[in-house]
Amino acid sequence: MTARLDVDLDLFAANLRAVRERIAPAEHMLVVKDDAYGHGLVPIVRAARAEGVRWFGAFDIPTGLAVRDEAPDARVFSWLVGSADEARAGVDADLDLGVGDTALLEEVAAAGREAGRPARVHLKIDTGLHRNGIRPEEWDAAVARAAQLEQAASLIVEGVWSHIAEASDAEDDAARAVFDDAVRAAERAGLQPRLRHLAASAAAFARPEFRYDLARVGAFAYGIRPAGGPGEDELGIRPIGALRVDVRSVVDDRAILGLGALDGFPSSLAGLTHVGTPAGRGEVVSVDLDTMTVTGWADAAPAQTVTVWGADAPSVTDHAELIGSIGEEIAVRLSPLVPRVYRAE
Ligand SMILES: *Cc1c(COP(=O)(O)O)cnc(C)c1O
Repeated sequence: MTARLDVDLDLFAANLRAVRERIAPAEHMLVVKDDAYGHGLVPIVRAARAEGVRWFGAFDIPTGLAVRDEAPDARVFSWLVGSADEARAGVDADLDLGVGDTALLEEVAAAGREAGRPARVHLKIDTGLHRNGIRPEEWDAAVARAAQLEQAASLIVEGVWSHIAEASDAEDDAARAVFDDAVRAAERAGLQPRLRHLAASAAAFARPEFRYDLARVGAFAYGIRPAGGPGEDELGIRPIGALRVDVRSVVDDRAILGLGALDGFPSSLAGLTHVGTPAGRGEVVSVDLDTMTVTGWADAAPAQTVTVWGADAPSVTDHAELIGSIGEEIAVRLSPLVPRVYRAE
């Protein structure tokens, strides 16, 4: 085995506790999109359940169904519903469905009618990101229609939610004002959305007034700190993934490692970053398709292990900052062919 991602489930459990303490009394929805940010969906869901996580943020319906298989009694939120068939599958699996447009509201209601049980819906207000979400000018009509569909037992509006940029406090505050208006309008329309959720990792940690009832935290749970933001110590988290690779060969003063661009390591990091070798820091001088070359250490030898990220090496965010990216992007690019190896005491 030449490259593998070691995932430390004890560190994951500690991060989950840190998240929970930080955001209480709001509840943590663990976001598990992109194969749990590259750490492997099923083992992450299992470990989170053992730690008492009750809400999972699954992005699309296939991921939601996979989480449901592992977690029969959890709440599973999927906010990408791609078709009427997916809406029906989501209702049948008792997923909580994020609904950000009025056509989808009708589809989800139809799925609830067909299934003979109300679809669980979280209505999304567009608070300024314009990615998805019901526009404020269409909101009153949408909540009025949702109230009718709720009366008809086709759906039940469990929540109101949105997503914010977390780039500037002023923009986020403006988004929050739009959000609060939307919740009030929903209540005026006769809905009782019990679950309001707006924040992801950064706002949930830094800004209590953004926590509401649920906070959708992904990155920080995996120990991925924000680019240009506070460090792991300040946040009280540790990276749970360590990407390790064995030295394949040593040529002159260069060690060749069996991990390259095809495995998901960005070739743009060549010449910019370093990795952790048995003798300390090793400079990454080139990244090819399936290998990378690191300036050797005095007694570099085949089969020694180098840490590319995590543990004592740079974090995914340290690497990402060198190429104007974010840690999540590096983590999720790691090829699924690289085995994930789980460890817990
Ligand atoms: C990815 C995502 C999150 C989690 O964001 P983190 O910054 O990783 O905590 C929350 N909400 C939505 C809608 C997302 O797409």
